[in-house]
Amino acid sequence: MSRIVYVNGEYLPEEEAKISIFDRGFLMADGVYEVTSVLDGKLVDFDGHAVRLERSLRELEMNQDFSKEDLLTIHRELVARNEIVDGLVYLQITRGSDGDRDFAYPAADTPTTLVLFTQSKPALVSSPAAEKGLKVISIEDQRWARRDIKTVQLLYPSMGKMMAKAAGADDAWMVEDGAVTEGTSNNAYIVKGNTIITRHLSNDILHGITRAAVLRFAAEAQMKVEERSFTVEEAQGADEAFITSATMFVTPVVEIDGRAVGTGKPGSVAGRLRDIYIEESRKVAV
Ligand code: PMP
Repeated sequence: MSRIVYVNGEYLPEEEAKISIFDRGFLMADGVYEVTSVLDGKLVDFDGHAVRLERSLRELEMNQDFSKEDLLTIHRELVARNEIVDGLVYLQITRGSDGDRDFAYPAADTPTTLVLFTQSKPALVSSPAAEKGLKVISIEDQRWARRDIKTVQLLYPSMGKMMAKAAGADDAWMVEDGAVTEGTSNNAYIVKGNTIITRHLSNDILHGITRAAVLRFAAEAQMKVEERSFTVEEAQGADEAFITSATMFVTPVVEIDGRAVGTGKPGSVAGRLRDIYIEESRKVAV
């Protein structure tokens, strides 16, 4: 069975889905996206992703052509049609196309392009990365300055993943002015005693939907949370480190630039937060 995707109002087999070569997402990376995970056939934190999407569109003065309800219906329809149990739904909205290439935005009534597709991930919960922990390297953060907007400009994060791979690691943490900003596709944390430390929200990082949920669960579990910058050296000397994202949930980090963090094994705080996150997400998924 070929995967059914959604393009501008139609559900189609993936081979039949087409967008214009003049689409600004393709020519200018003029688009935003969201990734919502699916557990037991239900969407995790759909509201959070919908709210962030609205904000990304607003910040880029892109038209809001779809209501939250429309988007929820499309997400659910794709999950059902593709029989996704555990996996994700990818959504992208671009500024569309007026049939040519120009730096200036097209006329305000130009329809945006809406594309969604699913990925099945049977190992989403019992992931090998969660068992083993990730090795990360640190790299300079060379992205643009509006990382709070979830745009499809993902070339530098892709380069970061390739740099990590070349160094025999799994991922990279990006560093700016001596402090860790975030992972290539996740938020970064360290643990010292009973305190969880993660960078404060600003335009320097993506405001992770998983981050918000995990910090709430951590506070409910009587852990202390400090939202502040930290250096690579502080992270290497921490008791534990971990990352969060919609598709990795909470995943431990066991090595930074070749130095073991804590025992060099996945830590108990990260393990506990991962269990709580998955359990609570299952309860409220829609
Ligand atoms: N930071 C970056 C740079 C990301 O790309 C992502 C995931 N897309 C995250 C953080 C985590 O965000 P979320 O928890 O909403 O998936």
